[in-house]
Amino acid sequence: MDELVKIKQELDRTKIELGILYEISNAMRTTLKLDEILYIILTGVTSHICLGFNRAMLFLVNENEGLIEGRMGIGPDTAEDANAIWTQIEQEKLNLEDLISVYKDSSGAVESGFNKQVRGLKFALGGQNAGLLSLGVLDGMPLHLTKETMQNYRDDPIVKTLKNDELIIVPLKAKDKVNGLILADNFVTRQPITKNDIRMLTMLANQAGLAIENSQLYEKAIIRAHSDYLTDLWNHGYFQSTLLKELEKTKNIQSKLTLIMIDIDDFKVYNDTLGHQAGDSILKELALLLKKESRKADYVCRYGGEEFTIILPHTDKNEAYLLAERLRVAIEKHLFSHEEILPKKKLTVSMGLATSPDDGNSASELIAASDKALYEAKHKGKNITCC
Ligand code: GH3
Ligand code: MG
Ligand code: MG
Repeated sequence: MDELVKIKQELDRTKIELGILYEISNAMRTTLKLDEILYIILTGVTSHICLGFNRAMLFLVNENEGLIEGRMGIGPDTAEDANAIWTQIEQEKLNLEDLISVYKDSSGAVESGFNKQVRGLKFALGGQNAGLLSLGVLDGMPLHLTKETMQNYRDDPIVKTLKNDELIIVPLKAKDKVNGLILADNFVTRQPITKNDIRMLTMLANQAGLAIENSQLYEKAIIRAHSDYLTDLWNHGYFQSTLLKELEKTKNIQSKLTLIMIDIDDFKVYNDTLGHQAGDSILKELALLLKKESRKADYVCRYGGEEFTIILPHTDKNEAYLLAERLRVAIEKHLFSHEEILPKKKLTVSMGLATSPDDGNSASELIAASDKALYEAKHKGKNITCC
């Protein structure tokens, strides 16, 4: 009879576990946005109605740079913090779906200290200084550090950072390739990690790895569709839609936005003398320079042909003028191949600036105004910036 009771208990538990995994994987299917996918995975790992770990972190493998990078962390910063959060979730009876919609609605809200800490973590993949996380990726097997085995890794950077005495590291896989890691611990309650916890986490990780890969492929495809094939800058379509979007934001917060229109001086001469392929190389080189010299928040776009635009959100005319001049001088100083064949023996650009709302409210008014300023720059002898 005892045996029967035991089997029944086991069956019930399996049923609950399958239900939990089913719910998490269903939630993952509702979005292709990487951040949302990561949030769903980690909420599944930490939520008390799912796997119930105190803290969970997600790292992704960056093969190009040979790094394992922290991407998201969910967990309390302190024990008091933990009690407050857990009590709230308990009281409000939030289920997985509720927790996810809270996240989706709060885009841009203040992030927790723990998330910030995790997002700042980077570890070498392989090589001499490779540590535990590298082992997790290269080995492709779950790694359970217990109170005893933890002693051997006291000097490992991740152990030093997390300051815990037990930790589980589970690889995320897509088609037999490890693309990330989930780390989880019971930092606050110090409840031991069971075999069952590890089994559940491994099953979740198998689905999570695939969901992450899908979303990364999707995001890459979106970026490709918005990029210019020659220069890799944002293309004309993306320029137009971004300008509309950013102007709308500007209006809502009563800020300023400046548009820079750029045109290469005497480019026809260059093409006619050296051919269009040589001209194309210049366009690529110039695009790199524009990207390098502008700020992270600016949108550098190819408007068409040999014309470029830069959208500068939250930037007034004075600030934009300084930036445009810095760009113009950098281009003037840069050595482009065979530029000596040009009338002034140097490859230069002319620029026109227009600011919203001063020079216009709509996208088309702003484009027309910057075009007019550019025309003036050409008229005044080229290689200058006009407002
Ligand atoms: P300006 O100083 O007045 O701008 O003189 P410009 O010769 O640069 O004249 P314009 O701005 O009208 O330049 C158009 C020329 O740019 C025509 C063509 O030779 C060149 N061009 C436009 N698109 C491309 C492109 O995709 N590749 C190459 N290689 N050349 C292009
Ligand atoms: Mg032109
Ligand atoms: Mg030109």
